[in-house]
Amino acid sequence: MIKDDDFIKNPDVPGPTKEEIRCIVMCKSEVSNEDVVVDIGCGTGGLTLEFAKRAKNVYSIDMNPEAIETTKQNLKKHGLSENVEVIEGDGFDVLDDIKNFDLLIIGGSSGELPLIIEKGYNKLNNYGRIIVTAILLETRAEAVISLKKLSMKLDVVDVSISKGKIIERGTMMVANNPVTIISAQKVV
Ligand code: SAH
Repeated sequence: MIKDDDFIKNPDVPGPTKEEIRCIVMCKSEVSNEDVVVDIGCGTGGLTLEFAKRAKNVYSIDMNPEAIETTKQNLKKHGLSENVEVIEGDGFDVLDDIKNFDLLIIGGSSGELPLIIEKGYNKLNNYGRIIVTAILLETRAEAVISLKKLSMKLDVVDVSISKGKIIERGTMMVANNPVTIISAQKVV
């Protein structure tokens, strides 16, 4: 797993997804080297880079040009650009230009989550997975409702991580924001 500090950061771009959250997402995704992955809302490239190491191909999409630039810089820094196509645009629209895939990661959707899920589901291969990482209550509720409507097999985990910070008197545990990881599989 790439260390959080090893990512190039831009103050105007969220991410990277914290290392421990990336671990759980990789595990839940059951990604293999035959999988085609679509990452909507690639931000700093936190998840994109981890999938680039493990999957066959990755399409990374973000509507913010600065996120596109930051993801490209991070791919280059880590020598992972080869199997990744970075595309600027709205995830909902860009999905039309991509053939079927095995994994859809949604890290940002700006109010279009149900639409992205529905369109993504139609392009998902059998046994493909959709993963939503949510920091808002509204996002997790929307994700669960939309994925259930499609009769997908759901797995929902809330992850609260505290990390030890070394201070003079000892090690102080500092809490990160909780993140909900919603994983769903297409079973036909
Ligand atoms: N997973 C990333 C962080 C994601 S932050 C990482 O590990 O680095 C969420 C991102 O989603 C932001 O960069 C935002 O610009 C993008 N985003 C939000 N709505 C979007 C949409 N509809 N289409 C494409 N990108 C979107």
